[in-house]
Amino acid sequence: MSFIALAPRELRKFRRKLLAWFAAGQRDLPWRKTKDPYRIWLSEIMLQQTRVAAVLPYYSKFLARFPNLAALARARTEAVLQRWAGLGYYSRARNLHRAAKEILVRHGGRFPRGYDAALSLPGIGRYTASAVLSIAYGEPLGVLDGNVARVLARLGAVRGDLRAPATWKKLDDTAHTLLARDAPGDWNQAMMELGATVCTPKSPRCAECPVAAWCRARKLGIAGELPAARAKPKPVRLTLAAAVLLDPRGKTLVIRKGDGALFSRLWQFPVLEITANGAAQLRQHLEKTFGLTVDGRMTPLGAARHTVTFRQVRLEPYLVRVVKLPEVQGARKPSLMRLADLPISSATRKIADAAIAYSSGVPIH
Ligand code: SF4
Repeated sequence: MSFIALAPRELRKFRRKLLAWFAAGQRDLPWRKTKDPYRIWLSEIMLQQTRVAAVLPYYSKFLARFPNLAALARARTEAVLQRWAGLGYYSRARNLHRAAKEILVRHGGRFPRGYDAALSLPGIGRYTASAVLSIAYGEPLGVLDGNVARVLARLGAVRGDLRAPATWKKLDDTAHTLLARDAPGDWNQAMMELGATVCTPKSPRCAECPVAAWCRARKLGIAGELPAARAKPKPVRLTLAAAVLLDPRGKTLVIRKGDGALFSRLWQFPVLEITANGAAQLRQHLEKTFGLTVDGRMTPLGAARHTVTFRQVRLEPYLVRVVKLPEVQGARKPSLMRLADLPISSATRKIADAAIAYSSGVPIH
């Protein structure tokens, strides 16, 4: 079942138009210059929930360090996370690394060509498997993600929640029906490109659209209203106090647990969810958890807001000078200045920068 039913001749015309538009005006992106499945796969993973402009510098740096799948598979997880640091959603990097190891052992180091084999790898869902296999190997698989779904919903004037299982299934069927089987990789990229550059979420530029002649939403004058907005979960607000412990040698203490979403299980400063007086609660926490006596002043480093999916986090970092850092199992004690050598999230990096800026008058090595 498809939302868009075109007679064979019209369908051929529709495909020709979109492919010609893509061939003539596609953006110049590094992953479009290769058929190497590893590089295409990496781009697809990095582009999940992340804008192209943000991905570009990470993509080239990552490839400079891990130029092929074997290099990635043989690397330490920490080194992989280090190159990912700042890009966010770190489970992507962990899964990428696990999948690379699996490919090395089970598929001779080459991304598998079979759909089921690709789908069984960590971090690879239907969209990514179809994207990599169609672009790298020319497998006739249509892709469906939020971008493509929006384009299809407008072309077919599909109302209601696109993520409703029956609607999503029909959109998936539509993507497969429209797919240009002789050029599946280009076709899928053309659909994605159309969604990213012309059929954008707000104010679609229908006047520039190569397939406007077949668009039902445009004909009905409802392109801007589709797709219907999804009901968002109510945001959860919380405040976290973070402690940048600093000893006289400029060393600090980082651990690897706590608020998973904000710090992504990377190295982070000790944190505590607080309700009112952050400094007092944090002081108590440090004394109770680390047996630390905080004699001196706890200096607030300026609160910052972070939104992680549906959680709105207010982060209150404090600089806490200590004579000696506590012994904590599994913790590390890097120099504050060298903290960025470890895999840390951007939230931790911001806190560290604020602490460095504040304490720049003291000897830190
Ligand atoms: Fe999207 Fe407008 Fe093109 Fe329809 S005509 S596909 S709404 S850009």
